[in-house]
Amino acid sequence: MKWNGYNHKRNYGIIFDMLFGMFLGENMNEDNTKRAKEGIIENENEEGDIDEKKERNLKDFKKAGKIAYDIIKESKSMIIPGQSLLDIAESIEKLIVDKSGSPAFPCTVSVNNIAAHDAPEYKDDRLLGEKDIVKVDFGVHINGCVSDNAYTIDLSGENGKLVEASEKALENAISSIKPGKKTGEIGKAIEDTITKYGFKPIENLSGHMILPYILHAGPTIPNIASQGGYTIQEGDVFAIEPFVTERDGAGKVKDDHAFMEIFSLEDVKNVRSPKARQIITNIFQERFTLPFCRRWLYNRFGFSITVGAALREMMAKEIIAGYPRLLEVNKGIISQTERTVIVEKDGAVVLE
Ligand code: MN
Ligand code: MN
Repeated sequence: MKWNGYNHKRNYGIIFDMLFGMFLGENMNEDNTKRAKEGIIENENEEGDIDEKKERNLKDFKKAGKIAYDIIKESKSMIIPGQSLLDIAESIEKLIVDKSGSPAFPCTVSVNNIAAHDAPEYKDDRLLGEKDIVKVDFGVHINGCVSDNAYTIDLSGENGKLVEASEKALENAISSIKPGKKTGEIGKAIEDTITKYGFKPIENLSGHMILPYILHAGPTIPNIASQGGYTIQEGDVFAIEPFVTERDGAGKVKDDHAFMEIFSLEDVKNVRSPKARQIITNIFQERFTLPFCRRWLYNRFGFSITVGAALREMMAKEIIAGYPRLLEVNKGIISQTERTVIVEKDGAVVLE
């Protein structure tokens, strides 16, 4: 995915300390705070048994992957014409919780030329159409360890090849991963597969490394061939997500500024509105930097214009980043398939 506001050089440790200092003593959930901090400093040379932490994280990544795998299988039957987008998103988020995981980000249901980030709104009344091509993207996290997944269902029966192309591109990307390889080579496996089908990859969307509580952790896996990139290492966790469009598509996405429902906590500054302060405290305690949506806030705090005003204040002060819906530049229809893998000695293994 493309997370415009994401700055991989950001020092999460410093943000953590600021947040911790700001909210300590105010109703702080110490357990979550401790876990968030442990997750975030995992790659820093702090005291503590790093191997033990890595092992615990690996267990959590696998647990998240297993839950996600079950939900992929269980949720596909919901994707039928006339189904409500909101019901799909809320059912999947509920399945995650029922299986003892937490949603890593709001479930999105993006149809046709909408590539991603379409998180249904509060009381969203949109229904799936007879011929929609539907991308369902959801994430499960256990103590911040995320399994990020997406599948595409073609309701028209006419775009089977487009769906097959993204599935096959993912499969070939996964089998081409080895420690020591550059991420650009994985992009080549994706692009080659897609062009062989006669389609185009979306060049400005990519897969991404995942670290505990950091969904987009810097290194990316491009959907096109490129020189160099990050050198893949044993133990790395990556979400790989080929996006495919038709030959007439532009092979690029752009922001839909009219629709923005997903946000994440980025930084902390003083806020005037008590509601904004309440939201920051709640998100920090429960999610740290993992994304959330406006609908979740309405469900939690009640539907009120003060929530909208608080979000606007936090956006203006760059306390939160927003992620607009993404549209294919030439209105090409899009298929996406995503799984999260861990890199082992001999290659990548899907977390499931
Ligand atoms: Mn992803
Ligand atoms: Mn995803």
